Amino acid sequence: MARYTGPKCRYCRAEKTKLFLKGERCHTGKCPIAKKAGTPGKDPRARSKKMTDYGMQLREKQKLKRMYCMLEKQFKLTFDEAARVPGKTGENLIMLLERRLDNVVFRLHFANSRNQAAQLVNHGHVFVNGKRVDIPSYRVKVGDEVAIGPHGQKMIIIKENLKEFSKSGVAPWLSLDPDTMKGSFLAVPRRSDVSEVADIKEQLVVELYSR
Ligand code: SF4
Repeated sequence: MARYTGPKCRYCRAEKTKLFLKGERCHTGKCPIAKKAGTPGKDPRARSKKMTDYGMQLREKQKLKRMYCMLEKQFKLTFDEAARVPGKTGENLIMLLERRLDNVVFRLHFANSRNQAAQLVNHGHVFVNGKRVDIPSYRVKVGDEVAIGPHGQKMIIIKENLKEFSKSGVAPWLSLDPDTMKGSFLAVPRRSDVSEVADIKEQLVVELYSR
C-alpha cells in the first residue's frame, strides 16, 4: 500500500497543529510545533488572509487523513463507507479509522507511530486471532485479539516501545498484556473517547465531500 514517506513535521507545520506523526518526539520539547508555541511574537511569514469555507474544509480533511497516515484514495473510500452506515457520517468515519489494524497496533504501544505500526503489519509481525494479517487497513472487530508474532517477539524496537509507553496504559477500549505482547479490542470507541481528534471538526470533512 502506497504511503507518504517524506518529512512528517512538514505536515504539522502546514496544518499549524500537532498531528503526532513521529512517536515520542511529538511529546517532547524537540517538536517544532511545541517550540514555536513557546516563542513569543507573530510568525513573520503568517498571512492574515481569511480562509474560505472550502479552505477550512480542505484543511480539516487533510489533518484527519494525515493523522491516520492515509493517502487520498483510501481515505475517500473509508469516508464513502462511513456515509453508507447508519449514524453521523463524521463520527462513523473516526470509528472506522480507529478500527484500522495499524491504528490498533499503534494504540497498543507495539509501535511508536502509526507509520511504524503499518510497517510492522506490512512485514508480517502482527497476528489477529492467531493468524498473520499483513494489511494495515484491515478492520479490527470487537473481541479480536491483536498480537505480535514469533519473530516480532524478539524485536528490540517493539520491546522498547512497550517499555516506554505501556506504563501509561492503553486506551479504555483496548486491553494489553505487555509480557505476551497480546492485546484485545474490547469495544468500538465513542467519538468523545478519542481525545487525539478532539479538535478535529469532522463535519467540515463531510461538507467537503458533499460538494
Ligand atoms: Fe513533528 Fe510530531 Fe511535532 Fe508533528 S507533532 S511537528 S510530527 S514532532
